[in-house]
Amino acid sequence: MSFFIPARQLTPGCTFELDSETRYEHAIGGSHNIAGADCPNCRLPLILHCTLDVDDPLLNIPNRKTKLIPLLYCMRCPLAWFEFSYRVTNSSSIRICEAFTENRFLKSRESSHITWPAAIAKVRKEWESYVGVSSWPRRSLGFRPYSERLQQLFDKAMSAGLKKEEKDECQLLLNGYSRQIPIVPQPINQMGGIPYCPQGVPTGCCLTCLQKKDRARPMRIVMSLTNEPLLNLKVSVPSVQILFLICLKCYTVTAINRLS
Ligand SMILES: [Zn+2]
Ligand SMILES: [Zn+2]
Repeated sequence: MSFFIPARQLTPGCTFELDSETRYEHAIGGSHNIAGADCPNCRLPLILHCTLDVDDPLLNIPNRKTKLIPLLYCMRCPLAWFEFSYRVTNSSSIRICEAFTENRFLKSRESSHITWPAAIAKVRKEWESYVGVSSWPRRSLGFRPYSERLQQLFDKAMSAGLKKEEKDECQLLLNGYSRQIPIVPQPINQMGGIPYCPQGVPTGCCLTCLQKKDRARPMRIVMSLTNEPLLNLKVSVPSVQILFLICLKCYTVTAINRLS
């Protein structure tokens, strides 16, 4: 199979195949012992959403610097209010580059109407009442690219919308996948591609490369995550989409969340 990958895309859009028997070490959830991966606010291990195995050619990540890329984030505290970035230094360590902590909070507008401890308590309460855990049982993960026709239909669903017969065709194609995939436009769990982002597709350059006076390098979307009852997957509070982007040069990962 060959795929046309438009510029700025990491890979073709792929759906998840959970508990799949794959020879790669992709996984969703699990606990971790990654050095440097504690939330600077919570002082708890960051939440490990996914682990990606660079050896899988489907990921299309060149310059293998490390075998595993952990996708880490924390929505238990105000870290999630702004972009969070870290550099993957090897399979078992990261270095945080950018995080919303008390110092940044005190310089922000939010600090005029809420104190830092109150902000932490507010976010934590929301997390505890809806998600309540900081890790999920590890499940192996496989990826299956959408067929060219399905990707065309998804692209159209995101731009012009689908006619009735196109929706039916889309549903028929989706029936061929091992699990139920909702028809976009709505945020879905997807690796690579350009997922549906109700608040706009994030674009931007890698700050680590810019700080090193290297040239501006576009970040690529590597993962879109959202709650999915059919998968029994609760990755965040309701109506939130988590996006992970990566710089292919330096393996800086940026996590953001958007309302869906
Ligand atoms: Zn935190
Ligand atoms: Zn970079």
